Amino acid sequence: MVQQGQMSGQPVFVLPEGSQRTLGRDAQRMNIAVAYAVAQAIKTTLGPRGMDKMMVSEMGDIVISNDGATILSEMNVEHPAAKMMVEIAKTQDEEVGDGTTTSVVVAGELFKYAAYKALTATKVSTGETACALISREKAAELLEQDVHATVIINGYKTSSKEAVEALQSLSEKVSIKDRKILEEIAAISMGSKGVAMGHANDDLAALVVEAVTKVAEEKDGVFTIDKDFIKIEKKQGGDITQTSIINGVLVDKEVVHPGMPKLVNNAKIALVDTALEIEKTETDARININSPEQMTAFLQQEEKMLKDMVAKVEKSGANVLFCQKGIDDVAQHYLSKAGIMAARRVKKSDMEKMVRATGGRIVTTLDDLSKADLGFAGVVEQRKLGGEQMVFVEQCKVPKAVTLLVRGGSEHVVDEAERAIVDAIGAVSSSITDGKYVYGGGAIEMELSLALKKKATKVGGREQLAMQAYAEALEVIPRTLAESCGLDPIDTIVDLRARHEKGEKTIGVDVLSCKVADMKPLHVIEPEKVKKQALNSASEVVEMILRIDDIIASKGRPQMPGGPGGMGGMGGMGME
Ligand code: ADP
Ligand code: MG
Repeated sequence: MVQQGQMSGQPVFVLPEGSQRTLGRDAQRMNIAVAYAVAQAIKTTLGPRGMDKMMVSEMGDIVISNDGATILSEMNVEHPAAKMMVEIAKTQDEEVGDGTTTSVVVAGELFKYAAYKALTATKVSTGETACALISREKAAELLEQDVHATVIINGYKTSSKEAVEALQSLSEKVSIKDRKILEEIAAISMGSKGVAMGHANDDLAALVVEAVTKVAEEKDGVFTIDKDFIKIEKKQGGDITQTSIINGVLVDKEVVHPGMPKLVNNAKIALVDTALEIEKTETDARININSPEQMTAFLQQEEKMLKDMVAKVEKSGANVLFCQKGIDDVAQHYLSKAGIMAARRVKKSDMEKMVRATGGRIVTTLDDLSKADLGFAGVVEQRKLGGEQMVFVEQCKVPKAVTLLVRGGSEHVVDEAERAIVDAIGAVSSSITDGKYVYGGGAIEMELSLALKKKATKVGGREQLAMQAYAEALEVIPRTLAESCGLDPIDTIVDLRARHEKGEKTIGVDVLSCKVADMKPLHVIEPEKVKKQALNSASEVVEMILRIDDIIASKGRPQMPGGPGGMGGMGGMGME
């Protein structure tokens, strides 16, 4: 009894004081509204007619982009549910390199169908109610119809599994030899970042395909592509049409000594990761020098050691040296006398790329350096680019590493061009490793939606509602594409549904000429893997967020005093 009295008299804290807790339906509502708001924020960037976003960081840096992953990471979102949405964009970007907007927009739509009422009721931080963001009246409102979250989750799970299966049966084959198809895939992937590209698109697509096919490696008919071996070097200046491929590596370093050659043909390249310097000992050592003769002898000894190092390089037959560490002035002098071109403090990643490009080996001690370690390049040359000296290692025989040199009129153009190229590299790599592609422009989403609706009627029960919701959610892609070019979204969807039901599988939205059209002759194609990953990651995040019925947030740190608008500032203003 006494104990109980004490218990009821004193509150027991499970959570630290000041923690916030949101439970049950409220927790679901809040998460859904936040996740939906994130999707809405990037929805308008979808497709070639999508708009761009300008993001200004706290430091005042400006990023202008159309790329879903970039926008989301720059947005710096706070809420955990929003962070989860950003996470799926990241996963999509890492796994396949394209389709980030698609995955986030589809996820947002799945949320909308899960709880329409939740969205209308909850205020999100953009200042408007999410309701204002929703254009359409009709919604499935599964949660509000008292369909339990678990049922929705199961329904969505079945749907995504079915959708992926349907996707496989709808895709067409492509191999590394189908250059034309791969170039079309690259062009479509880049085309959605149209502002930066313009007419250069086709040329860039060809460059991307060349780069990816060069670094692709085959083993027993299976291709692996390590995208790290395509180096992208950006240099502001010139214009986008001057973007080029270097069959080798572009090293952002200068030749160390003015006496060295600036151009070497038939380069035999030594790659060394030890310093051509006299190492200072780690231990405290002291050398006593008592006479000028001793001093001279000491310096001569040092010089001889450096000379010997250079002699070792020379003996190997190398006429170019890339050193990951430093090269002493004296060593530079002897290298220059020997007619060897050298660069120092070369990045490790560049050294590794040179191994792949030139066929050389990195050696750790100069004693080991022999002819067999040398790499080969047709030309090694120092050239000035955008006001800086750089060393081009090019015309390698069978380069397994290449460099794309991206040019453009301004920093923003070069940055966006890089993002477009990275997406295209992802799309082409996915197509090669996966070997399949599908028709874009919303055509594939309409087909999947149709397949799911048919399946749903067979499932029956409450899960059927969830499957139907999933099917309708997929239509967000063609609907958004239609909106982006000024077509009526409802008419377009009605039209598309009718034609897909008639078996016209490749009908989609021709965004460039603003009409519903067959995507096949227009070559609007995308890798199957991108769509598959987008469906999987969208479903995953929705399942994860719907499962949450309790948000426990510990108290944030107290605000630092004296922020903007503090007393000091006000006082100052009053004095004026
Ligand atoms: P994501 O980040 O998802 O890749 P994008 O902004 O790249 O988003 O847009 C991709 C969408 O645009 C895809 O659904 C694709 O089919 C569509 N698309 C791209 N080019 C065209 C085109 N020329 N006509 C119609 N749809 C296109
Ligand atoms: Mg894209």
